[in-house]
Amino acid sequence: MLKIYDCIATAHDLRLVLLAGVVCALSSYAAVGLLRHARNSIGATRSIWLAVSATTIGFGTWATHFIGMLAFSPNVPTGYNVTLTVLSLVAVIVLTGVGLAIAAHAKSRVGMAVGGVVIGGGVAAMHYTGMAAYEIAGTVVWDVALVAVSIALGAMLGAAALPVGLKNSTETWKINGALLLTAAICSHHFTAMAAVTILPDPRIVVSETAIPSTWIAIGVGIASFTIILLALAGLALDLRERRRSDLEGDRMKGLANAAVEGLLICDGNDIVTVNDSFGQLIACETSHLVGASVEECFVDPAIWDLLKAHPNKALESTLRRQDGKQVPVELILRPIDFGGRVHHVVAVRDLQARKRNEEHIRFLALHDGLTELPNRTFLNTRMDEEISLAQSRGEKFAVLCLDLDRFKEINDLFGHLAGDNVLKTVANRVKAVLTERQIMARLGGDEFAILMPSLSSPSEAGRLADTVIAALRVNGGTPETNTISSSVGIALYPDDGTDKQTLLTHADTALYRAKSDERGSYRFFEAKMGAEVRDRRFLEHDLRHALARNELRLVYQPQKNLQTGQITGFEALLRWEHPTRGDVSPAIFIPIAEESDVILAIGQWVLNEACREAAGWSKPLTIAVNVSAVQLYQARFVQTLHQTLIETGLSPHLLELEITETALIRDFTRALHTLRGVKALGVRIAMDDFGTGYSSLSNLRAFPFDRIKIDRSFVKSVHTNDQAAAIVRAVLGLGRGLNLTVLAEGVETADELNFLRNELCDDVQGFFIGRPGAIETFSDRPLESCDLEVTLRNAS
Ligand code: C2E
Ligand code: CA
Ligand code: CA
Repeated sequence: MLKIYDCIATAHDLRLVLLAGVVCALSSYAAVGLLRHARNSIGATRSIWLAVSATTIGFGTWATHFIGMLAFSPNVPTGYNVTLTVLSLVAVIVLTGVGLAIAAHAKSRVGMAVGGVVIGGGVAAMHYTGMAAYEIAGTVVWDVALVAVSIALGAMLGAAALPVGLKNSTETWKINGALLLTAAICSHHFTAMAAVTILPDPRIVVSETAIPSTWIAIGVGIASFTIILLALAGLALDLRERRRSDLEGDRMKGLANAAVEGLLICDGNDIVTVNDSFGQLIACETSHLVGASVEECFVDPAIWDLLKAHPNKALESTLRRQDGKQVPVELILRPIDFGGRVHHVVAVRDLQARKRNEEHIRFLALHDGLTELPNRTFLNTRMDEEISLAQSRGEKFAVLCLDLDRFKEINDLFGHLAGDNVLKTVANRVKAVLTERQIMARLGGDEFAILMPSLSSPSEAGRLADTVIAALRVNGGTPETNTISSSVGIALYPDDGTDKQTLLTHADTALYRAKSDERGSYRFFEAKMGAEVRDRRFLEHDLRHALARNELRLVYQPQKNLQTGQITGFEALLRWEHPTRGDVSPAIFIPIAEESDVILAIGQWVLNEACREAAGWSKPLTIAVNVSAVQLYQARFVQTLHQTLIETGLSPHLLELEITETALIRDFTRALHTLRGVKALGVRIAMDDFGTGYSSLSNLRAFPFDRIKIDRSFVKSVHTNDQAAAIVRAVLGLGRGLNLTVLAEGVETADELNFLRNELCDDVQGFFIGRPGAIETFSDRPLESCDLEVTLRNAS
């Protein structure tokens, strides 16, 4: 130590030593700054900055050395070998370049220290090559121990300098690093100089080609100037960089926060920064997330490795929010250069809305929009599943087809909104009586199906049908949802079919049967139903064209007053001559027409035809026209009737509408309203088929009837059948009490007629009086059975 001190203090010009130190510090400072730039850059730019840094430190070391040598005054002639001098400069630039490159690429402090050691080596190489270039009139003797110490010092301090200088981006650490590097170079140089002892020897001559010290001074001057320039350049660059990165940082943050998607940037597994959207998504303060492990953000931590393995590929995962909730997200990872290092930026897209939409679309595809019941597609899938399940377990299941009675009328009467309301009510009422495994689907219009799995016996399906029908019949809600009537058809797996199409068709056939037999009931499928139903469908189809094809006509049946023995009027009865089947009974085709809307057109045609006919009669005979319930509930029934009377010119009191009791009870208020309207026109009203329906006294009183028609089933053999006689007497009494005339239908024999005459029945109708026939048959000749001649038509 003393020897080194002596060397500096006595063998050197101290002013020059100071200068050497300043030049060295300056170059070190510039080199550390440039190294930082190199680390923050990538590719070719990094190499350029490394070269500039190596040049700076190389020239710095070189200048330090030669200023040191100028300060060293051995008082004997000296000079420098040109080649070795240049070589020493090249050596230091190359070696420090290698050291800097190692440090620039290093991921750890150890790596940086290794770079520093290499730089220390470069300094030593420079020094001893420089000493080899030194020519002096004397012999140089080396202290080997100090040589070793000098190399060790350079390497050790160099190793310390780089990790310190690169610790972070602050100026303090940069200066500390530069000071350590200066210390490495200077300590090496002066220790190495202390290892030198010069023994003057006048016999040794400095070669003529050797550069004199003055030249070296000039070289050193230029080198120093270069260093100062490079140092300033480095500084300027540093300032610019810092301003730019501040600006860039702000811009980046602004941009990131403007993004709707969540963004997070990670260094390794650590979160470096996140935007506000991500903070909101994960329900956490953004500042709390910085430094946290990114894997903790996800329910499945393995997603992180998967993302890194598939950059730029969208992957779905689940985010774990701070409040414990889970959010479905889509993630895309992209590697970026951030602050000179490879980072991972992850775009996080919230999939909650999309998932909700997908869910909704799936729901819409499989459900009916109005009632939210499963649709046909859904039912088909479930039936397939149920079939394979029932097959494997050897179980039975049932398919129930359900259809609302007279739904079309509800739509017509109350409007489509009310119709929708009824469908929704049906869905709710039925769902309420079903178990979890039983599924109700809407097949379209007012058609529904119920799938009833795991059936132990067919009667179970019957009970469910009863429950459903009863649930719909419940009183409550709006007028249109009050007592909804429905019919049900049932098909069983595997008895009635083993595939879904057959099962549904058969349940539908059974439903059709239920509707035509007795509305508001259920029927099981029976094999013979199939053909009947098909037949009905064909008839329905033909009926639609019957009017246009002129296949309909009216026949007339006389009605006679028993007191006067006079024909008082006729009942118009419809006939259909089918092109291939011949005459089809109205008892068959009228119910079919009533199930579709065909009855409206047909009914209007009958009314028109009958009124037109009756208006042409010379005698004031009444004309009775049968009116179906479907017609009665038509919104503009009374107006249309009025219009018909005006157009045909028939006096209203000659028209009698025959209405059955069942037509009234469906909607009491509405029927009453319509019938009052009819009555107000002056048209008469008869209650048809009395005794077969409800035969309620209150109905007779409430509605404005003029006449009761006793059904022919009570008239048949009335003179011998006591029960029938009792009923007929009761009805006759009722008529007298309510001041209504009574007509007995279906009188076929003289005995029946005598009985009725004795019981003071007002009017009669039947084959015994006259069979229904074309009106011409009554106009020209006497009616045989009633010994009365009726001239119906004017001579004209
Ligand atoms: P309804 O209104 O009770 O008509 C009387 C039915 O009894 C007629 O049958 C008639 O031919 C039959 N009949 C008359 N006298 C006798 C008799 O002495 N003995 C027997 N066994 N039967 C007798 P039809 O013409 O086959 O009509 C059947 C039903 O079709 C009618 O019953 C009526 O409900 C309906 N209908 C007929 N024409 C029309 C119409 O224009 N509009 C509507 N809505 N329904 C009609
Ligand atoms: Ca009738
Ligand atoms: Ca009748």
